[in-house]
Amino acid sequence: MATTSRSQIWHERAQHSIPGGVSSPVRAFNSVGGTPRYFVKGEGSRIWDVDGNSYVDLVGSWGPMIAGHAHPEVVGRVRSTLENSFSFGAASPGEVELAEEIIRRVPACERVRFVSSGTEAVMTAVRLARAATGRSLIVKFAGCYHGHSDALLVQAGSGIATLGLPNSPGVTVGQTQDTIVLPYNDVVALDELFSLRGDEIAAVITEPTPANMGVVPPVPGFNALIAELTSTHGALFILDEVMTGFRISRGGWWGKYGQAEGWTPDLFTFGKVIGGGMPLAAVGGKATVMNILAPLGNVYQAGTLSGNPVATAAGLSTLELCDEELYRRIDFLAEEIGQGISSALTEQSVAHSYQHAGNLFSFFFTPQGVENFAQAQQQDTQAFSVFFHALLEHGVSIPPSAFEAWFVSNALSDADVAQVLDAARHASRAVKDFQNKHRVHFSQSPAHLKYERHVTQQS
Ligand SMILES: *Cc1c(COP(=O)(O)O)cnc(C)c1O
Repeated sequence: MATTSRSQIWHERAQHSIPGGVSSPVRAFNSVGGTPRYFVKGEGSRIWDVDGNSYVDLVGSWGPMIAGHAHPEVVGRVRSTLENSFSFGAASPGEVELAEEIIRRVPACERVRFVSSGTEAVMTAVRLARAATGRSLIVKFAGCYHGHSDALLVQAGSGIATLGLPNSPGVTVGQTQDTIVLPYNDVVALDELFSLRGDEIAAVITEPTPANMGVVPPVPGFNALIAELTSTHGALFILDEVMTGFRISRGGWWGKYGQAEGWTPDLFTFGKVIGGGMPLAAVGGKATVMNILAPLGNVYQAGTLSGNPVATAAGLSTLELCDEELYRRIDFLAEEIGQGISSALTEQSVAHSYQHAGNLFSFFFTPQGVENFAQAQQQDTQAFSVFFHALLEHGVSIPPSAFEAWFVSNALSDADVAQVLDAARHASRAVKDFQNKHRVHFSQSPAHLKYERHVTQQS
């Protein structure tokens, strides 16, 4: 066993100053048990903890480290920027350049406003949609995560799913009474809601492929249907690309699928990759909607550190590294790792669903494929914990939650992939032993060992 004594000491110390020892809940390992690692260094594909253990990183700060940790070009750009101060709280050229780059990549996004987190980006998008339509209702899908703002913290994914919380105390009924939650991929429910209340709906917000309840690809035509219904009923379509933006392709999910399928959202939210690991996010979209923001219009939104030069430098130089070649390579790496792990599980007769959408993927230990949150919640979380710890023990860091996507970076080498697949063979054996010993069978026995859910483009 690798020693984790220093991480343990830090984690005990942290309890006295930070609730649960962490700045964001999933990091605490509560759902998988054990000691969270405290990290001190990252380089390329690997990260090091305070005990000197190194890991192949398949979390990548939940996406932003797409080009690998401490990439020399990003470090150089950030260093030369910060020598001239961290922030002015005033306009600076970097934010203009980053906005232009986003618009080049996502032409349906005509204007961009920077904020510091995905949560803020979504809050602003919702406010804009309500102001633009003069309506109140927001429609979201169960298991999708849009940050931790009150109105959207209803049947949410990510940490809320990981901790098994239905909602959050402290969010009043008033704050969520205008939020309607539908099951994901449910075409009939969406159609019915619009025929009943279409003229009250300000916006439908969705992840283009949910990846905060594990990866759950949309059924063919689902995003297109949202676009059609919102446009017919005078509502807005908010596409939350905080995770998928500039990860799935040069132009995010929309750039790869939306454009080809002929649908366009009114508003986008971006985060994660666009900050390259710095706190930076954005809301963007049609100029007619975006231009009602202050100071052009009267919809208020602001931020002391918004668009600061250091964050925009990190974002810009990360995006510069994200060329077609990078996306080809990370798609390939994701497929190689995903299929390789699925084979390791199949070899050990562990029933699972390998779910992937572009280069995002995750595994469910379930007796069937997963198309919505109710099915995702059948995840065998105990088996996942065994899998997680066996991988960690073999030097592979994946999200400490059964309901999160895995992230590859362009820095992964052939040797890293070989290490991941070797670790996966050990982890699959550990899951099998565990299931034999403790759990044995699903209530519904799987018809097949392996299920696979992926994106099928509509015709
Ligand atoms: C991560 C995420 C958010 C929240 O972003 P933060 O920067 O953590 O506030 C919102 N939406 C989606 C789809 C995300 O993946």
